[in-house]
Amino acid sequence: DKPEQVCILGATGSIGTNTLDVIRRHRDKYHVFALTAHRNLEQLKLQCEEFEPKFAVLPEAELADELASFIKYKKLDVEVLQGVDNLEFVASHHQVDTVMAAIVGAAGLLPTLAAAKAGKKILLANKEALVMSGAIFMDAVKKHGATLLPIDSEHNAIFQCLPEHFVEQGIEQCGIHNIVLTGSGGPFLKKDLNQFATITPDEACAHPNWDMGRKISVDSATMMNKGLELIEACWLFDVKPEQIEVVLHPQSIIHSMVRYNDGSVLAQMGNPDMRTPIAHAMAFPERINAGVAPLDFMEISQLTFDRPSQERYPCLALASEAMKKGGNTPARLNAANEVAVQAFLDEKIRFSQISELIQQTLTSTEYDEALTLEAVLAADKFARDYAHQLVQQMVTNH
Ligand code: NDP
Ligand code: MG
Repeated sequence: DKPEQVCILGATGSIGTNTLDVIRRHRDKYHVFALTAHRNLEQLKLQCEEFEPKFAVLPEAELADELASFIKYKKLDVEVLQGVDNLEFVASHHQVDTVMAAIVGAAGLLPTLAAAKAGKKILLANKEALVMSGAIFMDAVKKHGATLLPIDSEHNAIFQCLPEHFVEQGIEQCGIHNIVLTGSGGPFLKKDLNQFATITPDEACAHPNWDMGRKISVDSATMMNKGLELIEACWLFDVKPEQIEVVLHPQSIIHSMVRYNDGSVLAQMGNPDMRTPIAHAMAFPERINAGVAPLDFMEISQLTFDRPSQERYPCLALASEAMKKGGNTPARLNAANEVAVQAFLDEKIRFSQISELIQQTLTSTEYDEALTLEAVLAADKFARDYAHQLVQQMVTNH
């Protein structure tokens, strides 16, 4: 069999490097066709040397030129492309079989959508793209015969707990009562609420169980990540927010569950290591070695569960409400969150102001049905602009 040609969008990130680690173990099955990055030139150089992809893409010209000189000096057979349009070019290239969508945030929407329109097998990590575009993305997948496999550990777990005929039959006909989305609660599960105002970016990024990029780490601390995942699950599995129950599970061993009408609950378990869902989706329906240590039950000893507190995690309710409102609301929520998280990481606003900023943006920007991609991109832009203004006001009032 010929190796599968893989394009990795966001190769230099946490998901990107974990994907390359899985590929490294199965070079006979997978060939790296294209790698894309943003600012981390040094990492991309190393990856080009090791995997020698046909294409390496950087949005910025200066960095692309620097990479091109490196490629020439090392005499590598890699073509360097520059500009955001080339992200779409490689994601939809006719020689590509599989696209790992691992760019963080709204920047990943157009290339991921291009992969859908080209009918690729899409391994979806970039949840923000789906949260923003919802029905538009899912329609493109269906219309162009793309295959969508979830990388987010919770959604990958749910996918593993669903019956095979689920896509044709839907949740009710499969005898499913609801979906149980688990979340660790992040680093501030037990922190005194009075101390939330003084949380630093490094504290927020120190997740107890997972090693991830900074944006999703902050999202995990606010539990906006679980909120985005709730929206993601609604689209992926065609369910309503009411059919999803969010449960705190601090050990991150059960990655999510499906509750059936006969009383059975199926769970997927594993060590918190993203190589498991990545390897699962890459090889599906087969199974390959991911290099992950076997789960040691004696070592874990206990699994515990709790209800998430509204007061501690206001972002969770904001996301669930946004999904219920529908239209462009999830896109506005996502845009405001991206701006708020960046402002917090830049130490412009306090941790506790993240949810305030999102809420204010949602009440002050306009609802629209958002039936087209243009409407979604417009909502993203005006919500972003509004959120930036709020950041400025918050900085001035500091
Ligand atoms: P990272 O921040 O580690 O990596 C992000 C990647 O996207 C990097 O390759 C980065 O390039 C690239 N990138 C950033 N901005 C742009 C841009 N404007 N244009 C093009 N490329 C860009 O994030 P993660 O790997 O943690 O997360 C990636 C996605 O996967 C997110 O959507 C996240 O929610 C999701 N996810 C991540 C999990 C995890 O465990 N990390 C778990 C579940 C989902 P560079 O580094 O070169 O600047
Ligand atoms: Mg997740």
